[in-house]
Amino acid sequence: MESWHSALSHLECGRCGTRYDADEPQNLCTCGTPLLARYDLDRVAVSTSDIAARPPDLWRYRELLPVRDRRHVVTLGEGMTPLLPLHSYGSRIGVPNLLVKEEGLLPTGSFKARGAAVGVSRALELGIERITMPTNGNAGAAWAAYAARAGMRSLIVMPKEAPEITRMECAMTGARLYIVDGLIGDAGKLAAQADGWFNTSTLKEPYRIEGKKTMGMEIVEQLGWRMPDVIVYPTGGGVGLIGIRKALDEILTLGWLTGRLPRLVAVQSSGCAPIVRAYSRGSAVAAPWEDASTVAFGINVPSALGDFLILQAIRDTNGIAIAVDDADLLASQAACATTEGVLMCPEGAATLTAVEQLRATGWLDGSEEVVVLNTGSDLKYPHTAVMTEPVLLAKDGLLPRE
Ligand SMILES: *Cc1c(COP(=O)(O)O)cnc(C)c1O
Ligand SMILES: [Zn+2]
Repeated sequence: MESWHSALSHLECGRCGTRYDADEPQNLCTCGTPLLARYDLDRVAVSTSDIAARPPDLWRYRELLPVRDRRHVVTLGEGMTPLLPLHSYGSRIGVPNLLVKEEGLLPTGSFKARGAAVGVSRALELGIERITMPTNGNAGAAWAAYAARAGMRSLIVMPKEAPEITRMECAMTGARLYIVDGLIGDAGKLAAQADGWFNTSTLKEPYRIEGKKTMGMEIVEQLGWRMPDVIVYPTGGGVGLIGIRKALDEILTLGWLTGRLPRLVAVQSSGCAPIVRAYSRGSAVAAPWEDASTVAFGINVPSALGDFLILQAIRDTNGIAIAVDDADLLASQAACATTEGVLMCPEGAATLTAVEQLRATGWLDGSEEVVVLNTGSDLKYPHTAVMTEPVLLAKDGLLPRE
């Protein structure tokens, strides 16, 4: 059996740089900032062809993941989702080199499975037996499933507006589930009261982001170890965006590829756009958004702990932050479904609207290779489906005449 090696070295505060022991359970830095996993990249001896020979899951990047012993890996078969060209739809909106990373196929139906697989595995390795988190639905469903697989208990707190299916997923995988009449911040206040349960809230533990960063690794590997020009991401807590940037930085340092980082685009809904507002004001951090509301529930996040890291990632790569209206993202969702047969979740569809609008303003000139993330399965959001063809009723065992 091939040897297993993680190059994890320590944890480091994303703001003040204080170092922490990675082999103890950790949450935030004493300054209140997320901790980031750092690796001893000099000790990574594998090449891209070694990686190519490994199984098609996210554990193929094990040197750059935090799990030290393969016996602690908790897996439901996550990773290596398709990177699909959207040539017809892309041509219609003036960006023919458009591709989608289809994350809806992951276990539990969203890319949250990546963070849960790595986060739960590492929690198991560190001897944690009970985890808690606030969630807009998908993260809770994913962590509850992986916790069940690991033999751990989970306590999930979710707003009552979260997609109903995610509630059922938590209940069926044995989570202790609390529903709150409020937003994710209110859920967070409740989860923080759960004494004796390890808090795995977004960026409050350091390993969810390590799982999510594998989206960035897969994109460049699937392109033949090459950077795309632009990556467009539906941004709530922003972990995926920060993670993709972190992955590409690590891969550049390793020399697995050369070139410039892609321009990173954060997409939000105009009903909840704190990062977009901060970006356009030139601020380093984002003020909380009042009365947040959008059909793209996974990005209904009024206040993000990693706001400064998201804004840095956008600015360092000459990217941009853009807000789109719910009506427009639903129209993009329907148009992409009829043109390509790719039915995106509302969050994913928001990236399509963003690409169309960035092309219209000239920020994109149409020659770029653009990768959008479809972060979840459309099947989780039956209420956003728009019928473009009438539903016909067959009566008396006969098809009606055309
Ligand atoms: C959580 C979620 C997002 C936002 O993810 P972050 O990385 O926290 O910004 C986007 N889309 C879907 C479907 C989600 O569940
Ligand atoms: Zn700090």
